[in-house]
Amino acid sequence: MALLRTAAGRQSLRSARTLGGAVRTLKSGTWMAKKPEYDTKLVHAGVSPDPIHGAILTPIVQSTTYIQESIEQYLDRGYSYARTGNPTVMALENKIAELEGGYGAACFGTGMAATITVVSATMKAGDHCVITNCSYGGTNRACRTMFTDMGMEFDFVDFTDLKTVEAAIKPNTKLIFSESPANPTLTLTDLEELSKLAKSRGLIHACDSTFATPVIQRPLELGVDYVMQSTTKFYDGHNITVGGAIAAADQTLYENIKHYQNVHGNIMSPQNAFYTLQTAKTMGLRIRKQSDNAMKIATFLEAHPMVDVVRYPGLASFPQKAIADKQHKDGLHGAMLWFEVKGGTESGRKLMNSIQRPWSLCENLGAVESICTCPAVMTHANMLTEDRLKVGITDGFVRISCGIEDPEDLIASLKQSLDAL
Ligand code: PLP
Repeated sequence: MALLRTAAGRQSLRSARTLGGAVRTLKSGTWMAKKPEYDTKLVHAGVSPDPIHGAILTPIVQSTTYIQESIEQYLDRGYSYARTGNPTVMALENKIAELEGGYGAACFGTGMAATITVVSATMKAGDHCVITNCSYGGTNRACRTMFTDMGMEFDFVDFTDLKTVEAAIKPNTKLIFSESPANPTLTLTDLEELSKLAKSRGLIHACDSTFATPVIQRPLELGVDYVMQSTTKFYDGHNITVGGAIAAADQTLYENIKHYQNVHGNIMSPQNAFYTLQTAKTMGLRIRKQSDNAMKIATFLEAHPMVDVVRYPGLASFPQKAIADKQHKDGLHGAMLWFEVKGGTESGRKLMNSIQRPWSLCENLGAVESICTCPAVMTHANMLTEDRLKVGITDGFVRISCGIEDPEDLIASLKQSLDAL
């Protein structure tokens, strides 16, 4: 399984062999004939043991520049300068490309860097984008302020109704930007149907799939052109790094992203790529446990007398249950859920302020630690208040990210805070 999809990836393998020529090279083993299953890919995709020393983990290559054999052989080893490419980052890019089912991937310093790269690689002044009215707050802000100031146009519309999306398409539309499940409302978009619409109108469809991860949903398989991940979340899963990734469906789309990444200069650091290479291996195990915990917690919340509404795509009461079941793999619906308590803002805030360990009140999501977040004040504070309220993010909205702790402890702690309201 030599998962080297890109020219630079192939060159990096050649460079390892060339360097290995100076010392005794080690055999890294051959792969079985059978096609590996997804759990095997999570561990091994994109990486092979270091052919020089036999290190089972991809080494951190920390160097700004790369020595060239001659001017004529410039780039023969695949690398020139660290902003353009790095072997440790390339290993993670190859892994993510394989896991997302793409032609190639690019890794960034943050998830936001991935998002702004997709927009700047597909739009120019005068172009128009149809974007979901509910997404991560930073995405909303970047489009509503920075890109709008640069002369691009955005229509923020309800992606649960594809007729509304279609009606928003204009002659200058270039990009359709979805996020599914959406942060923080978990609103789903039918990615297959939206991709068909985008293709029929010659538009690029980019989807932020951070909440789902490729364990649950692979948008590129559903016709999406670019899939974005804030690797800060589930790919990392341990609150260690910030990072982002874009996987592209084909070579042209991939090369476009790599070009803009180099122009922006927002490549991930080798250390963060190294950490993410390791943490991604357990993503399947974590997602299964986190989904299981989330389902148990959602079921508990739904039965608690102080809870007004709870939304989790695994619950029968979830308004878009049919899409959740069609789009999410293996009956897994992820770690994220939200609820509101009786008594509105005041009670919601009282609950969040009183929450005790194992829960923590903070931002971020997807990690092994269970987290409770107040989107109105934290992750979505930069949305316009009326836009935030329109999609249901009230001041007392409680977003939770279920970790891998014992569900009984998580429920006992929540119950204590709810009972005290
Ligand atoms: N996309 C989603 C869905 C997010 O939740 C976030 C951050 O919370 C981002 C993108 C931005 O990622 P980062 O914080 O790594 O820049």
